[in-house]
Amino acid sequence: MTKNLSPLILTLTVSLLTMGCSEKNTFINWTYPNGKYKALIMSYDDGLVDDIALAQLFDHYGIIGTFHLNSGFLDTKTIWNKGKANEVLQTYLSRDTLKHVFKNHEIAVHGTYHKALIGLSDEEILEEINVDIENLTALSKNKISSMAYAFGSTNENVADVIRTTQLTNARTVKASYNFELPKNYYLWNPTCHDNEAMNYLEEYISLNSPTLSLFYVWGHSWEFRDTLRNENISKFCDEIGNRDDIWYTGAGTFADYHASLKALEITDKEITNPEGNGIIYFREKGQLKSLDPGKKLIR
Ligand SMILES: [Zn+2]
Repeated sequence: MTKNLSPLILTLTVSLLTMGCSEKNTFINWTYPNGKYKALIMSYDDGLVDDIALAQLFDHYGIIGTFHLNSGFLDTKTIWNKGKANEVLQTYLSRDTLKHVFKNHEIAVHGTYHKALIGLSDEEILEEINVDIENLTALSKNKISSMAYAFGSTNENVADVIRTTQLTNARTVKASYNFELPKNYYLWNPTCHDNEAMNYLEEYISLNSPTLSLFYVWGHSWEFRDTLRNENISKFCDEIGNRDDIWYTGAGTFADYHASLKALEITDKEITNPEGNGIIYFREKGQLKSLDPGKKLIR
């Protein structure tokens, strides 16, 4: 989106965004909606019936989940690790209930049949992902924007294929162990799996900086059949939920907002929010303001 801008504008844009719009720029601090600087994404895979209780837990704490579904398995049962000591019957969600279960959450792609994408041809990757997008669009009646790689199977080549779909972002299973915004939305490394999230909870809750940050947690709701794990996720949500200083959001909404921020046209004289962009929030000399699409801010 910056290809038509002059090098000067590009430099200013990049410097504003990479510095986190903080103390080096005393004029303005970009924020998330409603002036928040912190955000939480909770990203859950596979679409088993255990998602129902997790979505309800999130609802209780005002948290928005991003739920990655394998549409080819909806309404079915399967046995994982068949014949082994850890054999388990898994029941997938039913198509009819998706809109109800996830009414406050984002429905997202995990591949129609949970295929590892490394090793597939580009055509096979697109078949696995685009059919899932079509199915989930029909079932949710919403635009599908986000994805999580099944088995975490991805690389630069796979990500470049995903980039050609309508999806705006795709999550890996590689922990970043930080609260930074992603550089590549198609190889989006989360902060950590939920079994490590408690280690970062206090640090994030106490974080108080006028810089955009993100705590991105991923996992599987079926793992919460374990009593200790269930207690931990409940405690985590109890601590991090219902806070005034955290933006609870789906991955797609987050990616859209960050894309809108990056699309701002910035010079030393003015900042323009282009037509078709999203509304942008910021603090000017400490005061919360917003900039609608098609509007300019004179500096
Ligand atoms: Zn999975």
